[in-house]
Amino acid sequence: MTVIYKKVALIGLGLIAGSIAHAIRRAGLSDTISGYARSAETRDIAREINLCDVVCDNMVDAIKDADLVILAVPVGAMAAVAKEIGPHLKAGATLSDVGSVKASVIKNVSPFVPDNVHFIPAHPLAGTEHSGPRSGFAELFDNRWCIIVPSDQTEDTALNKLRVFWKALGSNVEVMDAQHHDLVLAVTSHAPHLIAYTMVGVADDLSRVTDKEVINFSAAGFRDFTRIAASDPTMWRDVFLNNKEATLEILGRFTEELFDLQRAIRHGDGDYLHDYFTRTRAIRRGIIDAGQDTDAPNFGRNLTKES
Ligand code: NAP
Repeated sequence: MTVIYKKVALIGLGLIAGSIAHAIRRAGLSDTISGYARSAETRDIAREINLCDVVCDNMVDAIKDADLVILAVPVGAMAAVAKEIGPHLKAGATLSDVGSVKASVIKNVSPFVPDNVHFIPAHPLAGTEHSGPRSGFAELFDNRWCIIVPSDQTEDTALNKLRVFWKALGSNVEVMDAQHHDLVLAVTSHAPHLIAYTMVGVADDLSRVTDKEVINFSAAGFRDFTRIAASDPTMWRDVFLNNKEATLEILGRFTEELFDLQRAIRHGDGDYLHDYFTRTRAIRRGIIDAGQDTDAPNFGRNLTKES
């Protein structure tokens, strides 16, 4: 593979930035990867595991002469980072991010981007419930989607270069506008996370009554919720605070459907329930056919190891 950006700077060195660093190296997409993280502890770990070619103690050093700068910090921290690095970005460089929400990041970061820098937001739809510099791995983006969100002013050459970069990291790439991105993600990721957090919260309340039976006899449905509900609290706080409208719209619809299902259970309307579950099963089939999850029983868990 050929070098796409000579120097890539990663601001924030957690799961996503770490995975980008590994995937860049796997494919040889840059000559130098520089990185910066807020805490000395994270920077030390990044140095210890050789996550980047150089880990800097301040952001401005990390982005110096970088051809691509990727902001990989929580959504609520993007503006402050952009404010600090904005005046020091190289002319002609591309500034991108990996934030899970797009409209608010664009609104908050844009004022700090100089005219001679291409600001092209992106969001890789790939992640795990783990965080921190040790959690990244090169295969994270393989066959997952990365949504790129250019503006009307984005130059084609800069956009295409970023598209080629994400493809070389292993992703499929789609271009979308910010509002549409935020609505799609509210359905596919943000609302499901909130529901998982709620379900685990409810079970936690209940477990106090049932003396930990919820934990001990945890069956697949609940266990899968707990995996999602173990996701980073800071990241998810910021997602909901920054994708308010779309998430509330989807939760409103969710509540209506939940009431319909509740009513069907109360009135013994088996046909309604059966039809509903048949429809949802088809959606699951579609996700597997698209290669976005495994069809292995129990999500591919090794049952002999687990039991
Ligand atoms: P992570 O593993 O928790 O890493 C976050 C990084 O940001 C850490 O290096 C942390 O520094 C730094 N950071 C946290 N708060 C900061 C602040 N206020 N100012 C400056 N730096 C700060 O998180 P991640 O999963 O890689 O997520 C990073 C971004 O990717 C987020 O915007 C998230 O929405 C997006 N994203 C996440 C996923 C996912 O599933 N995890 C998927 C797609 C996109 P310290 O370590 O020094 O605290």
